Amino acid sequence: MQTLPLTAPSVRLRLPPPPGGGGSLGSRAKSLVGVLAIAASAPLLLGAADPPAWTRPQAPFPIAGPITYVGSEGIAAYLIKTGAGAILIDGTLAENAGMIERNIVAAGVRLRDVKLILVTHAHFDHAGAVATLKRATGAQVVAGVRDVRALETGVPQGETNYGVIRFPAAHVDRGVRDGDKVVLGTTTLTARATPGHTPGCTTWTMQIPDKPRPLDVVFPCSVSVAGNRLVGNRAYPGIVADYRRSIAMLGTLHADIVLPSHPELADVIARGKRRGAGDTTAFLDRALLPKIVAKAKVAFDADLARQAR
Ligand SMILES: [Zn+2]
Repeated sequence: MQTLPLTAPSVRLRLPPPPGGGGSLGSRAKSLVGVLAIAASAPLLLGAADPPAWTRPQAPFPIAGPITYVGSEGIAAYLIKTGAGAILIDGTLAENAGMIERNIVAAGVRLRDVKLILVTHAHFDHAGAVATLKRATGAQVVAGVRDVRALETGVPQGETNYGVIRFPAAHVDRGVRDGDKVVLGTTTLTARATPGHTPGCTTWTMQIPDKPRPLDVVFPCSVSVAGNRLVGNRAYPGIVADYRRSIAMLGTLHADIVLPSHPELADVIARGKRRGAGDTTAFLDRALLPKIVAKAKVAFDADLARQAR
């Protein structure tokens, strides 16, 4: 969850589109009729519309080494090819599941060859499609241990200023803690616990071979406040200390390449275009993670001060 829906607290349920109807203009038009009908009785929900880019299709593009972008235009999903199948990081929104499947196939990977789905955090905009993608691929789902209950119930934990946005529940095959390794073939990803945005928010790191030395790749979990209640959050009392530790820890990581779940934080789509035009260094940016962390810290402190007033 990144942006703040301007609504009173509400409960919304994100479900995948009906089979066969995913993403077509017809089903969109029909669902719009449905939304308008609901809006007539509950007009506040209209203000909660997500940015259109979140569900806008994006052609997959190579990033570096084995990593390919397979997300929508506005929410990232990353595919990592290994000698023993592929790893998917995040699923994006439930309604994007068909789009992500098509992107995986267009990237040259059969759905059944996706062996692992790693989750950054249990919010509808990143984990909503995981249940459908797990069914389509047979992959094992791996997530931060403190997000397992949220993923398995489809109910995010903690208190926010926008209520609860549910998403389709997905079984988690493995809950990971800080420093745990996930291995597929000769590829290893390391989980770094970065709680705050959600209790199980997990940053994933890996190296890709390069000369004269391997490149450090960091997939940072969100550290934005994004409507989280920082003061008096009974469902997540340690939230402020967690945010502070996570922001500090991210500041210690070295990253040659930063691949966040909200692609605009690292200009991922624009870099992809440069890469497509032949610039093989488009994603190399060692100054980027410190910049993102510094900005997040300023935003966090400002939000905390505002909420404490
Ligand atoms: Zn989020």
